[in-house]
Amino acid sequence: MEKAKRLFLRLLGYRYVANLRSKEIHRLDTDYKQCNIPLIRAKKYLRKKDLGMWERAGYNGCRFCLPFMDTDIKRDVHVCFT
Ligand SMILES: [Zn+2]
Repeated sequence: MEKAKRLFLRLLGYRYVANLRSKEIHRLDTDYKQCNIPLIRAKKYLRKKDLGMWERAGYNGCRFCLPFMDTDIKRDVHVCFT
């Protein structure tokens, strides 16, 4: 994603983007190639307070940029954040 657009979204309070097809949520402030954010066609920008609601709706955190929200990881690995 181009920097100017990202900055604009941040000014509006958006920190995340949801892929409506794969049901994955990505952070906007990271640059992992694996996320392929520019390739996401059906998407919605989210604020931090929206995250919990979207997670309950069945959305999953990206394993690269939102690993703490990735339910695939949570199931069998316990990560300690101390
Ligand atoms: Zn990601």
